[in-house]
Amino acid sequence: MTLVHLGLGTNLGDRAGNLRSALAALASVGRLAALSQVWETAPLYVTDQPSFLNMAVALETVLAPMDLLVRLKAMEDELGRVASIRYGPRLIDLDILLYGDVVMESDRLTLPHPRLPERRFALAPLAEIAGNVAHPISGTAIAVLLAALKDDESIQEMGPLTSLTL
Ligand code: AMP
Repeated sequence: MTLVHLGLGTNLGDRAGNLRSALAALASVGRLAALSQVWETAPLYVTDQPSFLNMAVALETVLAPMDLLVRLKAMEDELGRVASIRYGPRLIDLDILLYGDVVMESDRLTLPHPRLPERRFALAPLAEIAGNVAHPISGTAIAVLLAALKDDESIQEMGPLTSLTL
């Protein structure tokens, strides 16, 4: 059993509903051990698109890293994600941010997620549920990585998913 941290993002359709559907689907690959609040983030890279809802979850799973990735990609398809431009709009995006302290790099999977240290929309929710966890490569705590960000990313705390009325 490994404690894995996932990042969820959505910016199309019923965004809170997409997060709820994703959490229901994730229960089929492990036990949800912790949920962050929901954060709303202005889109990066491609700015002419709706804003994102992001959250992080801790999941206890017996699935190996690649098996988990395959299941997550299948869930994205089942939840209605359509092929889109890179960094473009999406119904749901499921990323493996941390897989315990595993460090690996392959064509299809890099762990920890390579862009985690620079992404406020990933670090802010993750810090709520894993602030003291050390990044497996740098050894720096997630909360410290978040505090060290010098970006001007616009991100807003929206409260727990259960109380979201969007
Ligand atoms: P996406 O950002 O969802 O469009 O993901 C594009 C691809 O990134 C996926 O199909 C994965 O094969 C790859 N990928 C590499 N590392 C990761 C990771 N840690 N979590 C999720 N996807 C990853």
